[in-house]
Amino acid sequence: MNIEIATLFPEMCETVLGESIVGRARKAGKINVHCRQIREYTQDKHRRVDDTPYGGGMGMVMQCEPIYNCYRAVCDEMGCKPHTIYMSPKGKVFTQQRAVELSQMDNILIICGHYEGVDQRVLDKIVDEEISVGDYVLTGGELPALVVADAVARMCPGVLSDEVCFTDESIYSGLLEYPQYTRPEVWEGEAVPEVLLSGHHKNIAAWRLEQSLAVTKERRPDLYEKYTSEHEPGDQKVKRKK
Ligand code: SAM
Repeated sequence: MNIEIATLFPEMCETVLGESIVGRARKAGKINVHCRQIREYTQDKHRRVDDTPYGGGMGMVMQCEPIYNCYRAVCDEMGCKPHTIYMSPKGKVFTQQRAVELSQMDNILIICGHYEGVDQRVLDKIVDEEISVGDYVLTGGELPALVVADAVARMCPGVLSDEVCFTDESIYSGLLEYPQYTRPEVWEGEAVPEVLLSGHHKNIAAWRLEQSLAVTKERRPDLYEKYTSEHEPGDQKVKRKK
């Protein structure tokens, strides 16, 4: 899959996307992620990409032309129109389900806004969807774009070592995850739950499910309600009621 990020701060995105699991997946050619400087697509001799808002008001607005030229360059290089996303607090709130759907696309372009946002006319012309990372406002679209790129990348084949790495996790499984423990067996007088040391896989799975159900019921009653209405009691797999 190809992910393009159009931003005024490509170095900021590269720093994050060059590290850890996504960085390794890029090096191994499992996914392509490329960050583009929107300023490279302006005709302005001072490389300006923003101007004051019509109608007055605070701040600056990103202009149509540099973003549109950047979009056209991506289309030309990809040989097709990518699924184009604008990161925006006005967008639909991002979910695991949307990450899975986006990971099945071949080409994605994510546009990061800044200042007061982007001229509506270019958004109307090129954007397929607006995505928000939550009900709060950040200074720019870079962190939201990184959230989306990371969540989508780890769903792509070969990025994680095994599919179980994500199917067994919070949200994807329909529940929040059970507590995790690692060495040492006793830390500050606190011991790891005994069942996890038993080597008895069935009992461990039952304990984990019980813990997942308890934490989900307490913290996310909405998820708990949905899960229990779709699963038989004691069902440890994602198996639908007949
Ligand atoms: N004036 C805009 C408004 O009230 O909707 C907010 C602009 S914000 C300061 C600058 C940029 O940050 C936005 O264009 C968007 O790209 C990004 N941004 C801020 N908060 C976001 C969020 N919750 N989700 C996605 N993108 C966000």
